[in-house]
Amino acid sequence: MSLSSAELERYERQMLISGWGVEGQKKLKSAKAAVVGIGGLGCPASIYLTAVGIGRMVLVDKGKFKLDNLNRQTLCWQKDVGKFKADVAKEKLEALNSEIEIEAVVAEITKDNVYNVIGDVDVVVDGQDNWKTRFIINEYCATHNIPFIHAGVSALHGQITTIMPGKGPCLRCIFPKDPPEVEKIPVLGATPAFLASLQAMEAAKIITGIGKPLVGRMLFANGEEMVFETVEVKRNMDCPVCGNL
Ligand SMILES: [Zn+2]
Repeated sequence: MSLSSAELERYERQMLISGWGVEGQKKLKSAKAAVVGIGGLGCPASIYLTAVGIGRMVLVDKGKFKLDNLNRQTLCWQKDVGKFKADVAKEKLEALNSEIEIEAVVAEITKDNVYNVIGDVDVVVDGQDNWKTRFIINEYCATHNIPFIHAGVSALHGQITTIMPGKGPCLRCIFPKDPPEVEKIPVLGATPAFLASLQAMEAAKIITGIGKPLVGRMLFANGEEMVFETVEVKRNMDCPVCGNL
């Protein structure tokens, strides 16, 4: 694995970060990420993963862009309404960085297809807006030892935690019971944008090995009051998903 002179120039500013360097950039180039859900979180998260130079990425979303997505789903322009999100995202992200191998999967994640859809990746970014799918992904990541970066938003509020199977709590440890599903979550576009950039930051940290990931901690962001709080979240050793890891 080597970096071309164009790559060295493209990534120069981030390679200046302490502990990153050429080695960190090579680790990113050899890594693969999955972004599951190409919405308010998945659009900006995948933009930053593309910009940072992750080697390969799989984008999963079953849906098509709608007019009411435009306030937050930053890979959707007016002309894209009615097109499959994963396909539009792949096209735009490849135009941003042609070094990245991007796979678009138009599918809804189920227990039966999760292995085939996500596959063997180094990190999964949660771009979901429902808990049912999140818990399927959580279980997949826990049993395959894949870091899973969860985020969720509502209105001007958001939360994020990084799940490292066996090292900290999984989503089921934190939420033993399914939180209620909301059909239409109110949301200001800037909220998922902010959480998604933290998700991309966590992914880059995990892959390059710099910093301290948000494992065993949940960051709650209250944009209404501009209050940010990190709360400790613990493993449940009887967790049906990760208790025996
Ligand atoms: Zn667990």
